Amino acid sequence: MDKIIYLDNAATTRMLPEAVEGMIPYFAEYYGNASSIYRLGQESRKAVSRAREIIGNSIHADAAEIYFTGGGSESDNWALLEAARSYESRGKHIITSAIEHHAVLHTCRRLEKMGFEVTYVDVDEEGILKLEDLKRAIRPDTILISVMFANNEIGTLQPIKEIGDIAKENNILFHTDAVQAYGHVPIDVDELSVDMLSASGHKLHGPKGVGFLYIRKGVKIRSFIHGGAQERNRRAGTENVPGIVGFGIAAEHAAAGMEEETRKVAALRDYLIQRIEQEVPYCRLNGHRTRRLSNNVNFSFRFIEGESLLIMLDQKGICASSGSACTSGALDPSHVLLAIGLPHEIAHGSLRLTLSGENTVEELDYVVDAVKGIVGRLRQMSPLYEDFIKGKGKENV
Ligand SMILES: *Cc1c(COP(=O)(O)O)cnc(C)c1O
Repeated sequence: MDKIIYLDNAATTRMLPEAVEGMIPYFAEYYGNASSIYRLGQESRKAVSRAREIIGNSIHADAAEIYFTGGGSESDNWALLEAARSYESRGKHIITSAIEHHAVLHTCRRLEKMGFEVTYVDVDEEGILKLEDLKRAIRPDTILISVMFANNEIGTLQPIKEIGDIAKENNILFHTDAVQAYGHVPIDVDELSVDMLSASGHKLHGPKGVGFLYIRKGVKIRSFIHGGAQERNRRAGTENVPGIVGFGIAAEHAAAGMEEETRKVAALRDYLIQRIEQEVPYCRLNGHRTRRLSNNVNFSFRFIEGESLLIMLDQKGICASSGSACTSGALDPSHVLLAIGLPHEIAHGSLRLTLSGENTVEELDYVVDAVKGIVGRLRQMSPLYEDFIKGKGKENV
């Protein structure tokens, strides 16, 4: 493949070479089943325990509170569906936000079909959950609040501690989808009063198809995948030993380098935002300017189609996204951009660029020049833009 500039780290990340290296022996040499008695199996079991320790430490939890899963979507499904079923004798009301990932939103739709009631709390124009609305939504039969840690499209960081405190005061379980945040921002589940937390390996330079659900000791949710006794009877299925090992290595690396990485990536992000704002007219930064992930840039450009922009960027070797990877291809504008109040036509012209420490200023310069050129060309073809410019000319007279 020609050289590519990868700016879609919210969709997935390139694997850390050390994680790839670390996984290989668990395919080739130590292939034993972690549940077996013989020594070959013990090697696998030890490797899984090591990863569980690393990951437990990384969120200030006990290793015994970490349950490996097949990824972020499974963790979200498990947390919501089983918390609902396990606590329904107390009530059938659940609260979430309007800007969750589809792994949460579509699970909530399923719960509604099963007879649960779900309140979708709004966010403000910058994508921050309205805490007053959250408090007002709480009822005596509310059993669960699920709010994401950081949004995958616009990068907004939610007031997780405040939400955790509200949940705790009201004796309601609190789950957070931390798939975008884990490995990128410090997380302490006790300080934040989080009861359940979802994360996924491939969003922090680990492998795809492996994640975990943190379940606080004492939270009595049942297993979601039924079968063998793996994961202390709570998640059946032969352990994905190489995946878990790679996830552990990526998590350890992310924790050790987090401060430096955040500083570096945030500087790249701010440089990119500044150049686009200065050089591309009629653009709007989506999401909160400071309370956002260090790697997230999301702009709307008036008078263009995000899909056309993506295709033309791809021709220049640039990987980007117009919303979340799950919605691109569909023509519905992103539910997140609509929730922060963008009109349909502006939401359609949006571009998400998500960085990593592997990006350079030179790459970003190339990207800004490409965006500038393509947006200009697309606008030249837009009748709406022509009308707008003509109208503006009249106003000026
Ligand atoms: C990617 C993502 C998921 C899904 O994780 P998978 O491991 O791909 O299943 C869930 N929530 C958020 C916020 C995400 O960004």
